[in-house]
Amino acid sequence: MEPIITESRDIKLTPHFTLSEFLRAEDEMPAPWVLDNLYRLANRLQLLRDLIRRPIKITSAYRTPEHNLEIGGHKKSLHLSGQAVDFIVSGLSPKDLQLILVNWTGGMGLYMTHTHLDIRPYRARWRG
Ligand SMILES: [Zn+2]
Repeated sequence: MEPIITESRDIKLTPHFTLSEFLRAEDEMPAPWVLDNLYRLANRLQLLRDLIRRPIKITSAYRTPEHNLEIGGHKKSLHLSGQAVDFIVSGLSPKDLQLILVNWTGGMGLYMTHTHLDIRPYRARWRG
């Protein structure tokens, strides 16, 4: 894994994803171990991007503990460690994406408004 040595949010993690898409503008730069997770997450998401060839709009990725509390996130949410992403794809519903992602090896949550993916080391599925 390439270490991320930068203070720039504009850095490309993959051909289609910049670090800034995984952060909120008001939050400080996360710790290096979180950046490493975001890098791994972005590379997994890039595989989906390559498959569907449509823009993926990230609605929530890394969350600070404070922000996670604010929005009522699970206290052990993988968003806290930069291992989870919520997103939408114009023209593809969460159900469509669930079918496309049938072989996703981590966690996948199907919600009315978005899809949650994470890079936990085992398969998990749920409906929000
Ligand atoms: Zn999520």
